[in-house]
This record gives sequence, structure tokens and C-alpha cells, in this order.
Amino acid sequence: MTEKQVYLFEEGNASMVKLLGGKGGNLAEMTALGLPIPPGFTITTDACKSYYKQGGQLSGELQSEIRRAISTLEKVKDSRFGDANQPLMVSVRSGSVTSMPGMMDTILNLGLNDETVLGLARQTASESFAYDCYRRLIAMFGEIVLGIPSLLFSQQLENLKIHAGRESDGEITAGEWKQLTGVYQLLVKEHSGIDFPQDVYQQLNMAVRAVFRSWNNARAKVYRRLYSIPHDQGTAVNVQAMVFGNKGEDSGTGVLFTRNPSTGAKELYGEYLINAQGEDVVAGLRTPRRLAELREGMPEVYDHLAALASGLEAHYRDMQDIEFTIENRTLYLLQTRSGKRTAQAAVKIAVDLYEAGEITKEEAVCRIDAGHLDQLLHRSVAPLEELKPLAIGLPASPGGASGMIALDAETAEAWKQNGSRVMLVSAETSPEDIHGILAAEGVLTAQGGMTSHAAVVARGMGKPCVCGCDQLSIDAEERIIYLGDHILKEGDVLSIDGTSGRVYAGDVPLSDPEMTPELLKLLGLADEIRELKIYANADTPQDARISRELGAEGIGLCRTEHMFFTGTRLPTVQSMILADSREERLSLLERILPMQQSDFEDMFKAMNGLPMTIRLLDPPLHEFLPNLEQLGEQLRRLQLTGGGLEEQKRLKRMIAKIRSLQEKNPMLGLRGCRLGIQFPEIYDMQIEAVFRAAKTTAHNGIEVRPEIMIPLVGDPRELKELRALVDKVASEVLGEAFKSISYRVGTMIEVPRAAVMADKIAEHADFFSFGTNDLTQMTFGYSRDDAEGKFLNSYLDRNILSGNPFQMLDQEGVGKLIEWAVARGKEKKSFLKTGLCGEHGGDQSSIFFCQQTGLDYVSCSPYRIPYARMAAAQAVIAARDEAANKKAEAVILPIE
Ligand code: ADP
Ligand code: MG
Ligand code: MG
Repeated sequence: MTEKQVYLFEEGNASMVKLLGGKGGNLAEMTALGLPIPPGFTITTDACKSYYKQGGQLSGELQSEIRRAISTLEKVKDSRFGDANQPLMVSVRSGSVTSMPGMMDTILNLGLNDETVLGLARQTASESFAYDCYRRLIAMFGEIVLGIPSLLFSQQLENLKIHAGRESDGEITAGEWKQLTGVYQLLVKEHSGIDFPQDVYQQLNMAVRAVFRSWNNARAKVYRRLYSIPHDQGTAVNVQAMVFGNKGEDSGTGVLFTRNPSTGAKELYGEYLINAQGEDVVAGLRTPRRLAELREGMPEVYDHLAALASGLEAHYRDMQDIEFTIENRTLYLLQTRSGKRTAQAAVKIAVDLYEAGEITKEEAVCRIDAGHLDQLLHRSVAPLEELKPLAIGLPASPGGASGMIALDAETAEAWKQNGSRVMLVSAETSPEDIHGILAAEGVLTAQGGMTSHAAVVARGMGKPCVCGCDQLSIDAEERIIYLGDHILKEGDVLSIDGTSGRVYAGDVPLSDPEMTPELLKLLGLADEIRELKIYANADTPQDARISRELGAEGIGLCRTEHMFFTGTRLPTVQSMILADSREERLSLLERILPMQQSDFEDMFKAMNGLPMTIRLLDPPLHEFLPNLEQLGEQLRRLQLTGGGLEEQKRLKRMIAKIRSLQEKNPMLGLRGCRLGIQFPEIYDMQIEAVFRAAKTTAHNGIEVRPEIMIPLVGDPRELKELRALVDKVASEVLGEAFKSISYRVGTMIEVPRAAVMADKIAEHADFFSFGTNDLTQMTFGYSRDDAEGKFLNSYLDRNILSGNPFQMLDQEGVGKLIEWAVARGKEKKSFLKTGLCGEHGGDQSSIFFCQQTGLDYVSCSPYRIPYARMAAAQAVIAARDEAANKKAEAVILPIE
């Protein structure tokens, strides 16, 4: 027998989300709770997978299961599917496992045709209602099933309104709606070559297939890639008896959050439209009313809704996002899910629920989408008196942003690729713009409410967004926008404050983020749970101080070359590189030494006894010299005017030096420890600066813990030689203090050979720090810039790679090297300290990997630290859960 592929809502529950999708699982759960849910059934995600296997067809078994479920619905609703007198109408709704708001499609009013529409009209004594439903069905079916642009339908509606002199949809007469259904049917025929199907089962079959298909539409794919949702999960389909919010002034439809999704405040927060159907609110076509107005208009409905909302929140123990429809003052719920929220709201809600005793410490920590956390550390518009907004809209997603106005997603994407900051400005918000939102610093729209799909998506991405700004109008032909009396061109800079809804011309000053008391509380909870230490990648005393404020427990990577770049130092560094003799170089190094020393002193002070990992010079020397073409240009200009003979000489020398330093492939050339071995005096100076700084700082009563890191080691002898240098210089510089200051010498593991030979390397190392940026480049043999610029995207599209290995550690390949190296290293030296630096140190899945592998620490950029603290705690909880599951399985299996 084949697996059951259709579940009535009565047969499921919320734990079956993997099979029924989030929407289906929760509809079943709410049905079991006895809430007012229109009856229906769910076609499973497995059926979706079979659909793809069968080349886009529904199997015979599935079709008959669907028919049986429909006949159950008919009994409950006392109606018949396709019946001319008592027609049953259903919605066909997508429902993936992980919520993807607006990314896939839903069709309403299915089951209407030229005959059943008459039945509906008689039944409800409203022809205008019946034909309104019918025209909506044809348009949705045309768009979603047959791929006809929705614009064509809405244009026809606009034409009709102009001809008939109607201001709003509410004024359209029954005759006019009826006429429109005729026009729509012609449009369908003309664009798809087929008639709008009159057979209701054919409608249903085609709609179900279309929803399955929508799993693979472009925007859904982009969304999945963005949130690392597996492509093979598939979507469920929900078929549900219709309830109607478009039955006049006593009906309506809306969306509600049980807490404020922007701030987390405990208040009902929602929007609704009177006399409207489902999609009208989320599609952002009309700007909806605030829920508070419902309290005045229909107090008993409001109270009922409020009671259901708080019941659902208590049941799920989390903030819910609820869809509802009111039909003739009767309330129905159509969906609940845990609500998307800003980071600020997420933190506040988690802490509030924890303090109210609703959830545990572990649950509170897991409630934070680690991906949202760094959003909290976004900057906001400084509250300045003299800033005068051009316009005000709805504050849909907090934070301040500035960028060049781009009027469509393609433009936004193209400009972003050219390195510009862009502000996506559009009339209404459509989920199809997701790539534009992704490219933009922020989003501004003329229509649509706080619950419109674009607002939801922007909040999810942590992008500032202002919606429903009715002073905004756009002239897409002329590429200009009007904001009140002001005219701006596409390409002009515009700023928005998504926290207040204000819109400004030009750039505005942005102020730095603050840690709220709730965030500090939550991070404190995470610190109680986590095992990994969190270090910072910090190159300057300023970075070191910020890192400590954000909770760093040490510096995992201080790139000393960054100290070479600062303004006044660079010329000295350049002369040092250009030096003809060792003597000359030594004397210049002597001038650089005190500069480095004073930086190290400041950093030691900032770290106040915490370990500080200092990496000796890594990049090839030519990186410190100016660009060859620019120098050539300068020289030519001087030669033309015949001036500056001395300068000409200097330029020529520099050009010759750069040529001599040029390499075929600098990434694999003279850099890292190779440089240190070739020019020992450079490392010598750096080591001396570190220990002089350590000595002075310790002398002032501050504990110091220097850890010297040798980059790019590929062979144990490289490390052996340089370690000897460190020990020699340390004992010379420290003298008496040698006994009281302890230091470590270790290496960055970033060349695959070093990982493979980890036991030999460990003989000379006190610590390993996995430099996963280079290790990834060298393991894959990709240079990052070339890969990301040229082929990585197509690899991701083709599923050759399942994620960008420079963002998410490649656990199968690079990860294996790390595991191997840790195991070999620790065999040789049990007290070997291990950690990871590189961008992966701030990535959740990579942090999970570090926890699993038993590393001691991860190191990431300062503003990622709160994120890393949270992810490290989540990693511990995930590991515990996994262990618990294994134990549970072990118990259950023998009984079976
Ligand atoms: P999405 O996942 O894009 O939100 P939904 O399947 O939830 O899509 O449906 C879109 C809109 O249609 C929602 O507002 C929903 O409440 C409404 N809707 C869906 N099914 C019904 C139904 N049976 N009766 C009335 N409204 C419905
Ligand atoms: Mg929905
Ligand atoms: Mg490196």
C-alpha cells in the first residue's frame, strides 16, 4: 500500500510539520483545540516530492484520496463541489515546512464556474458578491496556474472603473463584476490558449499542481538560499472550505501579531480591511486599518479575537502571527505561526517570556534567530532637531539607512554590484522584489501596511523599511519620485528611518547601536550555557575596547599589518620595503618599532589580562606599495613637464622595486612565514615590539598574555625556525621579566599540508588557530574573489555547492582537515589550545561545528561577538538535544 498522502485537519497536529507543512500542522492543531477553523485537509510534502518524481503529475491514488477528502468536506459544509445550487468553494494554499511568507502561491474561491456562481448568488442573495468572488478566482487562477501576468487583470479592472466612473471597488455593481468575469475569461483564452476550466475537479487538479510548482519559482529559491532552507523539503498543499470577508461592511479580513513585531511590546498588533478577501491585506494593494479600529466597529468580534490570540500565544508559548477573516460578524482563524520579528522584538519577547516563567533559559536562547542578532547592532538615525523629514510612512522595520534611489529590483541589484548603496523605492511591495530588497540598504514603498510581504521580508533580513508612505508617488517613465512637494531623481540619495517611519533627502547622520538591558540579560543567559570561548579579531586598540564591551574573552587574531597602513606610518613602511641594504632596512625598522610597540601597549591595556593573539606580518610586501599604473601615470606627467627630477628618480626606483616584487600568484607567493624566513629582521622587529610592550605594560601592574602566531606554516621546520626566533627575542627583551610573563607561540593552520602534518607541527606549537579563510581557499583551490565574482553563484544554482564555503564552513572537506588536525595535534600535545579565526567564526553553522569538534574558542569581528556568544550557547543546546534524541531512539527501537 502506498503511504497516506492526504490528512483531514482532524487527523493532524503541530508535531507533524515536516509532513503537513507549517500551515497544515498548525491548522490541524487549532482544529483539535476547537477553534473556529474552516474545515479542510492537507496534501503532504511527500506527495509534493512524488509529484516531482512523476514529472509533474498527480498519481491516481492521490487523486482519489483528494476526492474522498472533498466528499468529507461536502458533508461537513452541507454542499457539493461543482453543484449548481449548493456549491462548495475552497482555497488551495501552499504551506512549506519552514515559513516563507509570500514566496509561494494560494488560490481562493476555487469551485466557482459559470453555473455555480449563479448558485452562490442565489444562496447569498448577492449577485455582486458572487461575481466579485468569481473574478478573483479567474485572476488568481490565470496568474498562478497559467502564468498570465497579474497586471493584465488589474489593468482590465482599472479600465472598467474608469469607464463606469467608479472610484473604489466597493462601488462596482453586480452587472459590472459579471462583465469583468467575461473579460477575464477572454484574457485567459487569449494568453494561455485554453478556456478557463469549468470542471471544478480539473480546477483543483491544476491548482494543486501549480502550488507544487511554486516551490521552485524564482523568488522561493532566492528565499531558500538566503535562509539556508533545503531545496528538497517540498511544500504541502492545504485545501480548505472558503469563508468570505468580502460580504459587505460586516465582513473583513486581517492579520494580527500577539505582540508588537517591531519592538516586542506586549500588545495586540494588527491590521485589517473591511469587505476584502485574504490577499488584499498582505499584497499591499490597499493600506489597511489598524486593529484598534475594529474594537470600535465590531467590539464583540474584537474581544473574541483578542481572547483567541492570547490563548494561542499561551498554547504555543511564543508570539503568534495570526490570519483571520470575519464573515457577517462571525470570526474565523485561517493561520497561525510563530511571528517573524525584528531582533529587538525577538530579544524582548524571549526575555519577557523567560521572566514570566513561560519558557526556560535554553528556550529563551534558542528563540533568537542568531541571524537577527547582528541586526540589533545596526545603526539608527540620530535624533537631531534640525533634521526635517520630507515625508512620513509606516515604521515597518527599524534602523536607519541611506542609499541611491533605485526604482526597481533589477536596478537596485545592478547598482549594488557596482558597489553603490541603494534604496529600493517602489509603489507597492511584491515578493518578487526579493532580490532587490536583498541588494538594498533599505526599502520605501507608497502603499502596503506593516504586515505586507515586503515589510515582513525586510524585517526578516534586518533591513530598514518604511511602508505605506502616501506622500510618495512614482513616475516610472521619467524615473522620478515625488515626496510631497519635493521631486527627486532615480540615483539621488535618500534616507529612511524605519524606527519612526521618517524619510529624508540626502544622507543623514547615523548613530551607533546600544546594548539594551534585555539584550544584556539574554547574552548573560547564553554565557551561562556556552562552552566555547569567544575571542575577537581586533587590529587596533579601538577594536580591542569595543570587543571587550561586547563580551570578548580575548583577541584571537590581531593582524599586525593593519598597523602598517595608518596614514603617517605608511611612508616609513614603504621606505623600509624599498631599502637597498640590510642596514638601511634595519634603521627604518627601528623607526617602525616604537609605533607598533605603543599600539600593542594600548591593546594589552584594553585586554587587561586576557589572551591576545598577535599574528606576525602576513601579506606580500608589494601590497604596501602604491599601484603600479598610478605611479607610471605620475611619472609620465612629470616627464612631460620636465619637473621634479628627484621625484622622478624616486618614482622610477619604486616602479622597479614593485616590478621586482611582483609575483605570478601572490596568494601562493612570498608571504606569511616565508617572508619572515626570507627577511628575519621584519619579524624580529615585530616580536621585539610585542615583548617590549608586554614588559612595559606588566611593569605598570597590568597582566599580559601575549600569544605569537606564525602565519601560513606548511612545514614543521618553518615553525621550528621561527619559534626559535621568538624564544630568543623574548628572552633578550624580557630579561628579568622572562620568568613572570608567560607567552605562547603557535601557528595558524591555513595550508592543507599543515593540517595533514598536524602532529609534527604540534611539536613546536602551543596553539593552533584555524585560519579558515585561507584554508578554504587552498583546500578548494579557489581564490575567493575570483570564485565569488565568477562562478560561485552558478555552482550554487546547480547545487554543485550547497552553500558558499567562505560564509559557511565546508564541514565535509575543510572540516575534515580541521578534525584531523585537532585529533593529531592533541595526541601529540594534550594541552594544545585550538580555535578558529576567519569569517566563519561569526557564522552559526560553523560555530556549531567548532563546538562538535571540541575547539576551545572561536574568534570573529567585534560586532559579531554577541551573535557568536548566542550561537555558541545554541550549539551546546543542539548537541544536548541530539544526544537526548539518540538516547530516546535507543530506548524505543528494541520495543518495536
Ligand atoms: P500565504 O502563505 O501567502 O499567507 P495563505 O495560504 O495563507 O497564503 O493565503 C493567502 C490569504 O488568503 C490569507 O490572507 C488567507 O487568510 C486567505 N485565505 C486562505 N484560505 C482561505 C479560506 N479558506 N477562506 C478565506 N480566506 C482564506
Ligand atoms: Mg498566510
Ligand atoms: Mg591567512
